[in-house]
Amino acid sequence: MTRKPTHMDRALAQARAAAERGEVPVGAVIVARDGAVVAEAGNRTRELNDPTAHAEVLAIRAACDALGQERLVDHDLYVTLEPCPMCAGAISFARIRRLYYGASDPKSGGVAQGARVYAHPQCHHVPEVYDGLAAADSEDLLKTFFASKRGEA
Ligand SMILES: [Zn+2]
Repeated sequence: MTRKPTHMDRALAQARAAAERGEVPVGAVIVARDGAVVAEAGNRTRELNDPTAHAEVLAIRAACDALGQERLVDHDLYVTLEPCPMCAGAISFARIRRLYYGASDPKSGGVAQGARVYAHPQCHHVPEVYDGLAAADSEDLLKTFFASKRGEA
């Protein structure tokens, strides 16, 4: 029996597409209150020569552009990996309602570890956070990607 693809499945598809472009495989999807996908993106730091071109930032920019507004109130963001501090900040600035993420990121994560952006009183908007969604799939993608990179060296 096939199950209906979830928003995290779409984020994983974006992560896979990123890996095929030689980018770190992370994907993000932004969903409106009615469940419609407003934007989706994968990492493009290499392609754009832009260290800020993380999947979450690109998806937020695309969603705001599509909606003609600077905030994404009542929107949810799905991302395959725990956001870094920069993206956690951008998610807060965008007023994202819920953040769903897959694998935790002990090296660069900024939500549950490291900077813990949302734990600071300076953070004016804290999204509801749900972690561990399809975490194993996301981890496998990252492991395969970095193993193949090491193979190239
Ligand atoms: Zn990031």
